Amino acid sequence: ELYNKVLELKGNIRVFCRCRPLNADEVTSGATMVIDFESAKDGELTVMSNGAPRRTFKFDAVFGPQAEQANVFDGTAPFAASVLDGYNVCIFAYGQTGTGKTFTMEGTEEARGVNFRTLQKLFDIIQERQKLYRYDVSVSVLEVYNEQIRDLLVSGNQPGMTARRLEIKQAGEGMHHVPGLVEAPVKNMAEVWEVLQTGSNARAVSSTNANEHSSRSHCIHCVMVKGENLLNGECTRSKLWLVDLAGSERVAKTEVQGERLKEAQNINRSLSALGDVISALATKSPHVPFRNSKLTHLLQDSLGGDSKTLMFVQISPNEHDLGETICSLNFASRVR
Ligand code: ADP
Ligand code: MG
Repeated sequence: ELYNKVLELKGNIRVFCRCRPLNADEVTSGATMVIDFESAKDGELTVMSNGAPRRTFKFDAVFGPQAEQANVFDGTAPFAASVLDGYNVCIFAYGQTGTGKTFTMEGTEEARGVNFRTLQKLFDIIQERQKLYRYDVSVSVLEVYNEQIRDLLVSGNQPGMTARRLEIKQAGEGMHHVPGLVEAPVKNMAEVWEVLQTGSNARAVSSTNANEHSSRSHCIHCVMVKGENLLNGECTRSKLWLVDLAGSERVAKTEVQGERLKEAQNINRSLSALGDVISALATKSPHVPFRNSKLTHLLQDSLGGDSKTLMFVQISPNEHDLGETICSLNFASRVR
């Protein structure tokens, strides 16, 4: 049902909000839930204060703590066909660290996330269409950390080492590319998943604290698809971007100095740049400020035009996180 609803939706920018459940520690310590999901099926959630409704937010879909990975994917599934039909698609997870961005995108082996399910769907459709179309698929895995692009498929490419710094170049009419970025050809789900795991592992081993590092960098998977219609020879080229963004939390000014300050400023700058770009596209503003961050510059050809964008805004239900939750909900309302 949600699948049909999403297919019918007009416009190319959608925002889904997902709230994680209270975790075991929060349950034990008696944390209060301040988000009400009674109208979640209508795409609404309500922020409560002292048991009374305070503010209601509306999105294209709302997933409460009970929602399962498969329910969430129902809303995302149509994008796999869009990519094979030649559209560029970007799927982002935005939110405070610990709200489930990685859970939604990567998931776990027992509860696969959007990345796995979307790629599986992609290869299923390729199989279904094989008499009519031929598809070539390749993938890149990269991260943006401190406004620097790092290729995670190049081994020994550690931060601070002699990593080749990748730059974004203009490649003809409205096209951008990153010279030197590894694009690994993949034929099926098993191959693509192996490449993506290689990328994630490279990211983890290269940092002393993998969790902290991952919350401060944008993790980006790019799936490139070349399609050929076997009947008329028509070709399409499209990209699917799967982006697990850096944590959106504001860092207390007093806490932050030196390297951490620079990191925080870079994250802040790139997330606001992303918000500015999506909101300029949503309001059909004549000027879209793609060049204000590496992330938006990198994704420039896949944002806007007839590209499709899906933003997951991840939130916590815990009263203690309310300040960040409101910030994230405001960000999400702005891009919608
Ligand atoms: P983030 O990537 O935003 O920092 P994570 O995805 O790492 O957050 O999630 C933090 C913790 O909460 C993880 O242990 C994750 O498994 C758990 N979690 C997040 N969302 C859900 C959910 N919807 N259902 C169950 N567990 C979740
Ligand atoms: Mg994460």
